[in-house]
Amino acid sequence: MTLAPETDVKYLKGVGEKRAALYLRLGILTIRDLLYHFPRDYTDLSSPYCIGEAPAEEPCAIRATLTGKSPEQRIRKGLSIFKLTAEDETGELMLTVFNSRYTVENLAVNKEYIFYGKAQGGFLRREMPSPDIYPADSPGIVPVYPQTAGLSSVVMRRNIKQALEGVPAIRDPLPLDMRERLFLPGVMEALGQIHFPQAPGSAKKARERFIFEELLILSLALMSLRSREDTLACPMSPADMSPFYASLPFSPTAAQRRCIDEATADLALRRPMNRLIQGDVGSGKTLVAVACAFFAAKNSKQTAVMVPTEILAEQHLFTMRGILEPLGLRVELLTGSPGPTERRRILAGLALGEVDLVVGTHALLSEGVSFAGLGLVVTDEQHRFGVAQRARLSQKSRDVHVLVMSATPIPRTLSLIIYGDLSVSVLDEKPPGRQEVETLLISSQKRARALGFIRDALGSGRQAYIVCPLIEQGEALPGLRPAVEYAGELSQKELKGFRVGLLHGKMKPKDKEDAMRRFKNGETQVLVSTTVVEVGVDVPNAAIIMIENAERFGLSQLHQLRGRVGRSAEKSWCILVSDSRGGITGERLRSMKREHDGFKIAEQDLRLRGPGDFFGSRQHGLPVLRVADLADDLAILGVARHEAERLLEKDPCLSLPGHRPLAEEAERMMAAVGERPN
Ligand code: ADP
Ligand code: MG
Repeated sequence: MTLAPETDVKYLKGVGEKRAALYLRLGILTIRDLLYHFPRDYTDLSSPYCIGEAPAEEPCAIRATLTGKSPEQRIRKGLSIFKLTAEDETGELMLTVFNSRYTVENLAVNKEYIFYGKAQGGFLRREMPSPDIYPADSPGIVPVYPQTAGLSSVVMRRNIKQALEGVPAIRDPLPLDMRERLFLPGVMEALGQIHFPQAPGSAKKARERFIFEELLILSLALMSLRSREDTLACPMSPADMSPFYASLPFSPTAAQRRCIDEATADLALRRPMNRLIQGDVGSGKTLVAVACAFFAAKNSKQTAVMVPTEILAEQHLFTMRGILEPLGLRVELLTGSPGPTERRRILAGLALGEVDLVVGTHALLSEGVSFAGLGLVVTDEQHRFGVAQRARLSQKSRDVHVLVMSATPIPRTLSLIIYGDLSVSVLDEKPPGRQEVETLLISSQKRARALGFIRDALGSGRQAYIVCPLIEQGEALPGLRPAVEYAGELSQKELKGFRVGLLHGKMKPKDKEDAMRRFKNGETQVLVSTTVVEVGVDVPNAAIIMIENAERFGLSQLHQLRGRVGRSAEKSWCILVSDSRGGITGERLRSMKREHDGFKIAEQDLRLRGPGDFFGSRQHGLPVLRVADLADDLAILGVARHEAERLLEKDPCLSLPGHRPLAEEAERMMAAVGERPN
């Protein structure tokens, strides 16, 4: 049969059902997917060393003749080794191969091979543990693929080569004129070069083309979600904010006043506001949203505040009612969990314009929610929402003002493609009297002492969080503390006599609410929780947060968690429990002790973990990218965005035949994004 790009990989010679199932684990279904599965690296075999001249302790290729193979030696169950010897006129090479009977059986004594790995030992008798072994006539540069158990690079190379030779041609999503203008190779040429490059440089060029392609498609997809730049919003009139300020239990910081002024000035414009409030945890972002809601209500406009968790929605309801109800505004909550009667009551209030401010989860976006006069949409903890939710929100709010709030810094180019032209207000000041949270790093052996410290704090009336990396045993990796079992154990032993609560993502919404409410009003003294408390939760009386298996969390996440304490003028502590002290992990954890600035921590995170994770798609609810990296490829992203604008200007719906492939790819990319689970 002839191969088409959409043909199932199982029809490729040498693949079949079994390998197809392995490919599926890598998300590879069709020939096209396989061709777009790019090498993670390349091995350069173009100028192999002789044994005597190979450098020590760095990966290199050695060409030599295989002179001997030992029989299989079983070390223990699941581990067997083979010893091989190879020679050339400069010396002898001892090789150890692990668990690869098949590879070894296929090697012929007295034949030449290229061995790739780290050479160790003296110059006459050298050793190479677990080499990659290639035929002596291998091409100069060999691709190395991201693997799954059972699919070696050797197999993938063979399958991909076949696919490349068997597929007539893949339609190039990039229009010819664009490719020529930007000097980008065509898709078939680029596929050939990225998999089997003639020279290292040609693989790079091919990769850049695919990075560009992916970022162009991403830009198109996000821009078509947005397209609200040219709409008009209802401009609001200036309002007297003094009753608002007078009703606050504290005086706002200068930064809060500035952000409120900037945002309310936007509300008075015809162009819809598109503003980000960026402020570290605890900087008081909520107040800015409440102020804007007040301003909108004075203009007879409604405000919707969307948050990622029910817990946070509840808390905002409480805070916002506290400020706005005395001023005569009606504030309601809309989440997935209210009963039908309650829901109908709130929906009626929204439709009649009686509700001024509604706080909720993405339930706010569901069918049947309509407003008498929606003027402002706020999303708190913006980065926690997926594109799908953002898309629906932007449909609901084409001509309303939008305020987003986040503690996660975001590079300008990236914010441009995600949000369009976004103005930024920075909350760079904490409410007065806040002390730095003292951060301690301890090993699990010291846990008993830490719990003693927690008991003392509870005894003097304060509260504590204990955060676990997972919910319950069963999903457990050994050595990790599950919240359910740990909460039980603590209330029986170390924290006996204290009131211990439990909170995690698998609990029913109602139970989550109850757990949170009991902690907030002091009924429970300790809250054992998973990272569901990570965003937004505000219990100023909590003095200690102890984080188990701290090495499992990213720095920015640790910082968010730490931000749950230190929310009053009293001193607070963050105790990181971890037995991983070495290497990068240790360095990361130690940096938490020194650094308290969320922006600097984000930078640090980026430096230590590499960009993939941090600016990674998950952080911003974007589709998972295959080749491009949003942090590394910002320059290409800039070009891609520009090209996307040009295209949409010429052909807003991408309906010209030459643009259809791009439109289809953009749709495919968006369809692949699920909503983010919490
Ligand atoms: P963020 O959302 O930025 O993490 P919040 O809006 O939850 O922070 O505010 C953190 C805490 O600080 C809350 O308990 C809030 O009531 C309090 N707060 C906010 N602004 C001030 C202020 N100007 N003075 C004193 N306390 C404040
Ligand atoms: Mg907040």
